[in-house]
Amino acid sequence: MSAPHSPSPGSLTVDPRAAAREGRVLRGTLAAATLERLLDSLADTARQSGQPAPAHSHDATWSAGFELREHATDERQTRHDVWLHLEAQTQVPLVCQRCLSPYLEPLSVDRWFRFVKDEATADAEDDSAEEDLLVLDPRLDLAALIEDELLLALPLIPMHGQCPQPLPLATDAADEAGDASGDAAKRPNPFAVLQALQKKRD
Ligand SMILES: [Zn+2]
Repeated sequence: MSAPHSPSPGSLTVDPRAAAREGRVLRGTLAAATLERLLDSLADTARQSGQPAPAHSHDATWSAGFELREHATDERQTRHDVWLHLEAQTQVPLVCQRCLSPYLEPLSVDRWFRFVKDEATADAEDDSAEEDLLVLDPRLDLAALIEDELLLALPLIPMHGQCPQPLPLATDAADEAGDASGDAAKRPNPFAVLQALQKKRD
């Protein structure tokens, strides 16, 4: 007898094999407030760069398509693998490490997973598989998986594709950005590089 299951607010339990047998495609929205690990991570990032914790965040929309695929193990046998195509989108408030202004970074997840029977199989097949491997759990917490993938989609160094305003002087930027951009501080000041180039040309 298992203890009564009390799901956390964002919890979303699915039996992958049953869902795959029915070819189910699930869709939904995870409220921003339930993405606690993502919010914690954003607050940490903000703290490290001396910024206030981001005030607002966006819900995540997602879809999860389950399917069974035949897989020939040898000439006589086929097994049916459970596959999951997971897509998710949201936007998170970050601070650009180049111009230090806040901006919304779109996060997008589009990944294929194949379920395997145990950890040993996952370890054995992981290197040769292009897809991600997950151990089959009849109580897959889809919300936790979606949040894992959104966390992985966070940029290592948040940055505008193109900054909307001219860069502040690099020395100021390095001081303000603090620990989070230690590498940025070591990078040559772009204006100094430009001056050097101009001197060479003279
Ligand atoms: Zn920027």
